[in-house]
Amino acid sequence: MRFRKGLNGCAGRPEPVEGRLERHSKLPDSEIVPFDKLRTGFRRAQHERGVFRGFQSVVSTLLAALLSTSAFSAQQDLELPPNLQQGQLVIGHAPHGVKIEYAGRRLRVGDDGIFVFGIERDAPAQIKLHVRYSNGKAHDQLIAVAKREYHVERIEGLPQKTVKPDPETAKKIRAELARVSDAKRHDEAREDFLAGFQLPVEDARISGVYGSQRIDNGIPQSPHAGLDMAVPTGTPVHAPAAGVVRLAEPDMILTGGTVLIDHGFGLYSALIHMSRLDVKTGDKVASGQVIGLSGATGRASGPHVHWGFSWFDVRLDPALLLKPADKTQ
Ligand SMILES: [Zn+2]
Repeated sequence: MRFRKGLNGCAGRPEPVEGRLERHSKLPDSEIVPFDKLRTGFRRAQHERGVFRGFQSVVSTLLAALLSTSAFSAQQDLELPPNLQQGQLVIGHAPHGVKIEYAGRRLRVGDDGIFVFGIERDAPAQIKLHVRYSNGKAHDQLIAVAKREYHVERIEGLPQKTVKPDPETAKKIRAELARVSDAKRHDEAREDFLAGFQLPVEDARISGVYGSQRIDNGIPQSPHAGLDMAVPTGTPVHAPAAGVVRLAEPDMILTGGTVLIDHGFGLYSALIHMSRLDVKTGDKVASGQVIGLSGATGRASGPHVHWGFSWFDVRLDPALLLKPADKTQ
């Protein structure tokens, strides 16, 4: 059986896996999404708007809204991009002096009014931001969230030990996950995310998408929390955006060679299954900088790069960073 799946393993194979497979996403695993096409589409969208070319589209949507004459209402509401959905990074803008809470967390608001939060995979149809103004008034701003359909992948006939790790391995895995979680606690004022994101590898064939529910030997596993790109071992892996390396570990049980990049405001990229790391914890990286080489380390079914993206511990969909927020469903 080629498809080995643990708590968080993922898919490098470009062809259908063995076993029964149900797919509901618009982006099937076998769909080829060349790097250039994604980039070109992104640039075109920027050009059509005619503003802030080179910025990430979510940001440009926001800024376009800010530039419109109706952007600042008398209520001084928060400015948010339209058509938000599960798994999405949200970049908003707040009037001066506003304090915002979401999901029990006080959001950082930059000097420029920028704030961010992430909508989790299974967020309800409506979420709320608690907003407190400098004059002491407060209210809840309600936000509609579009529900998504996720893949369901049913894999049968796997060795049971790969589905249920032995107690000692499970303990190590929990310790590693705790380390990664701890590395994602930083909430820095850097706004590296505002310059936009790029795919970490060129000529990427998408072999796994965000949110897929994995059912191995009939046992539901954690949903797939990132974007898999099938590339040969040894392919250069680029930083999706600038940031600071918070963790660089060559050999973790589930994720193998792992690099975690802090883009500021609690936003993190994880590049995993790498065969070689060219950065270390504490390094500053530029957008597009090579941080190592791809591989099949950890629990991977074949050579690929997994790009995970999160707001603190809330796992988000990297694919949504690459296309306009107002053109998604
Ligand atoms: Zn993956």
